[in-house]
Amino acid sequence: MDVNKLSRREMTELQNKRLHSTIKLAYEKSSLYRAKFKRAGITPSDIKCYEDLVKIPFSDKKDIVKNFKGAIADKNISVYHTTSGTSGLPTVVGFTKNDVDVQVSVETRNLQTVGVKKSDIVQNTTPYGMFFAGIDLHEAIRNIGATVIPAGKLPTAKQQVGMVVMFAPTVILGIPQYILKLSYAYEEMFGKDPKDTALKKAYVLGEPLSDSVRNRLEERWGIDVRQGYGLSEVGSGAECEEKNGFHWCEDHALVEVIDPKTGEQLSPGEEGELVYTTISRTGTLAIRFRSNDCSHIIDDECSCGNKTIKIATVKHRFDSLVKIRGTLTSPYTIDNMLFGHKNIRNYLCVVEKDEHGVTDQLKVYIESEREDMRVSFDLMDKLGGGVCFTPDIIKYVPIGSIPIIGRKEKRFVDLRSENPDNEIVREFMSSVK
Ligand SMILES: [Zn+2]
Repeated sequence: MDVNKLSRREMTELQNKRLHSTIKLAYEKSSLYRAKFKRAGITPSDIKCYEDLVKIPFSDKKDIVKNFKGAIADKNISVYHTTSGTSGLPTVVGFTKNDVDVQVSVETRNLQTVGVKKSDIVQNTTPYGMFFAGIDLHEAIRNIGATVIPAGKLPTAKQQVGMVVMFAPTVILGIPQYILKLSYAYEEMFGKDPKDTALKKAYVLGEPLSDSVRNRLEERWGIDVRQGYGLSEVGSGAECEEKNGFHWCEDHALVEVIDPKTGEQLSPGEEGELVYTTISRTGTLAIRFRSNDCSHIIDDECSCGNKTIKIATVKHRFDSLVKIRGTLTSPYTIDNMLFGHKNIRNYLCVVEKDEHGVTDQLKVYIESEREDMRVSFDLMDKLGGGVCFTPDIIKYVPIGSIPIIGRKEKRFVDLRSENPDNEIVREFMSSVK
């Protein structure tokens, strides 16, 4: 059965059947969801189709963090993974053998959507280990019959680039910023244009991809860049050649969009918070799981022929919005603005209180190939226009001096709240004073 070709009616039938048996399983085997159902006064016979989802109370990361065992239905766990913990405590997700098979099949489909073929050599820089994507993508590459280079996240960018030269991969997988960094490392090591490598494509995931970073990656490596999106708790999707939204594995996880304030379900095209319900996993279940991701559903026919719905590129996470002087802004807006400037190689934005502990201050540190006052003026103008304030400090720092912060190499740090990374940032700030 090619799920990408199912008619809407066939897909709905499959989803409803799987939804009903998942709800039954949750009711019988998961203490977390049984308690939620009982409180809401619902039994499995009340949930037969997508439209019935609205009767079920929401769940979220906190529920699973608090009691990960309670979210597991079938206790016969094959592998545990944890989420990256970018937004607080890591969440434990238990995969049964069935769940691993499901997720690997989804990743296989994603790679096919992206255009990975049997003849490809794929360098996987996604970390192997507690994070689910590394290992599952590895297996998916093997499923396709392509060659996998299981590089994972090597200690240095130079080692990673060494593998690009040694194995001549045609596809590279990983975090967009990391793959961008490799292009500079390649240039420095060999003095050659990164376009000269065998690379033709990158499949990037792990953080939202801004248009300016996509353009920069495509231009520097001379490749086609496709984006993936996923959550350990529910599943994943990938961009086809339209590069406009992720074809979603809706046969394995239902998606709804809700108004984050009222919880009311919204229609396709309307922007809100994505909420997921797994319908084929049996280990950790996610039922009406609030993702905090802001996006909308695209249900128009896609020119690539894949009939599954698409989730539009995630704009931001609701819990990642930062309030600076009373204005809410998204670090991704700032990312898009800064990487729009060709010479900027890396940057770090820091928000902190002034010395009196009263006013918020935004400080921007920039690694650039050359200092250019026009960039600073333009930046002030764009930040001012885009997010309604100007930075207090814009400082050029030597290339390579900004420290690596966290697994995802954070470039936006809020010192107003306590975080283990704050010390590294403070140290850096005083070193460049
Ligand atoms: Zn498509």
